[in-house]
Amino acid sequence: MNLMQENSEIYRYLFDSAVEGLIVTNQKGEIILVNPRLEQLFGYNKEELLGKTIEILLPKKLRTSHVTQRDGYIHKPKQRSMGQGIDLKGCKKNGEEFPVEISLNYFKRDNETFVMGLITDITERKKLETELKTLNQNLEETVKKRTEELRVSERLHSAIAQNFPDGIISVFDKELRYILAEGKELRKLGISGNKLIGTKYIDRLPNEIKEEVEALLHNVLKGQKGSVEFELRKNFYVVDAVPLIEENGSVENILVVERNITKQKKTEQEMLNALEKEKQLNELKSRFVSMASHEFRTPLSTVLSSVSLIDKYKEEKDHEKRQKHVNRIKSSVHHLTSILNDFLSLDKLEEGKTECNPEALNLKDLLKISVEEIQQVTKENQKIKFEYKGQEEVILDKNMLRNIVNNLLSNAIKYSNANSSIFLRCSCESELIKIEVKDQGIGIPAEDQKHMFERLFRAKNSTNIEGTGLGLNIVKKYVDLMGGEIHFASTEGEGSTFLIHLPNQKL
Ligand code: ADP
Repeated sequence: MNLMQENSEIYRYLFDSAVEGLIVTNQKGEIILVNPRLEQLFGYNKEELLGKTIEILLPKKLRTSHVTQRDGYIHKPKQRSMGQGIDLKGCKKNGEEFPVEISLNYFKRDNETFVMGLITDITERKKLETELKTLNQNLEETVKKRTEELRVSERLHSAIAQNFPDGIISVFDKELRYILAEGKELRKLGISGNKLIGTKYIDRLPNEIKEEVEALLHNVLKGQKGSVEFELRKNFYVVDAVPLIEENGSVENILVVERNITKQKKTEQEMLNALEKEKQLNELKSRFVSMASHEFRTPLSTVLSSVSLIDKYKEEKDHEKRQKHVNRIKSSVHHLTSILNDFLSLDKLEEGKTECNPEALNLKDLLKISVEEIQQVTKENQKIKFEYKGQEEVILDKNMLRNIVNNLLSNAIKYSNANSSIFLRCSCESELIKIEVKDQGIGIPAEDQKHMFERLFRAKNSTNIEGTGLGLNIVKKYVDLMGGEIHFASTEGEGSTFLIHLPNQKL
């Protein structure tokens, strides 16, 4: 075999065994050569193809136009290689169409142009391409959807953060620098969250709490949660901090929620005050029992002595004396009722509901009766000296006045010794009524004097003497309600003088 023969053998082998379909046409478009792969691709055998125009291999609807294109190519042939993205269709013998890629080339021989085509079945590739396209499309849609979801959640997060009520929600890095800061309280303070980013949280805090908060946040960076309360510009805040734990268990950031709890604090304080008041009131009521024994003693002993005296005055001639004691009993019982009413209305007095009801009365008589009543309970040889100056008819609240005078006289008796004198002086001027109760008793220590009218207060030198610390407080409240003033002067060991000024109302 010479070289020519050998070459031609090789070409034939290549032609026959090529994985692409090979076809050669003459310039009339007639098929003059096909390889086995082409037969296989189109389902024809060689004999059926040779001599037929190339259009036999094209879908019917393209055949006519192809004739023109083919003619054009013959006149101006050029090489067209594979992969130029031209989607072409071939048509099998059974009419089935399939995607092909064709590369064209030409050669001339004896003045005739021959066209050579290399045809690849790209059905699989097309299928893959379509699948890839669909996949891509799906992927794009998923990405779009996720991006939108992300945007929604981002919007939601920032809306939550921005509208975080009465507080600030922040995220810090390991150096406790702001990564995020939002919340209504921040706006209320006129601070922009964006401006805080990168700055140190601790720098924002008042000096007094810096250390405490920093220590707390360092603990949070170690994985523990914590909270602290502090006051800033008359507002109360509570800071709750939690670690933001990563998937690997490390803490890179911490979430801090600062809430303004001023309102709650205020309510809490109000509740505590109310509770304290309630407690004091309860204490007051329980003390009322001992108070009653003190305050009731005078009128009750008057009743007792008058009853025993009445018992003695059996004769007709004693009628006047009897009557006098009956009146005293009446007055004492009346007084008892008044005190009882006053005490029972301690709540009322506390709430400021007690009203002053002035009425016309003879002040001298009223004071005299009080002296006479209280004289019954004085210590041995204790004398109450009563002096009265000026007009007698006045307009005053009788119960309050009695309570005031009785209280002051009882104290004078209680806090001074037997054989001492007690003075009750009253001067009634045209505009002012002055009532003075003076004793020569134990007096009031100087350091205790400023507390005299405080409820439940008792001077330190009187602890051995029975008492509740309520009387002067009630006296002061009554004097206030009557539009008057109360003053006192006292020296420990020498005695005390209580002075009351009341406005003298016109009849
Ligand atoms: P009480 O006499 O029941 O203790 P008060 O409110 O009447 O309550 O008096 C309060 C305190 O004032 C008394 O405990 C006593 O220490 C002091 N005090 C009141 N009046 C006198 C007085 N005339 N002399 C000395 N101390 C007095």
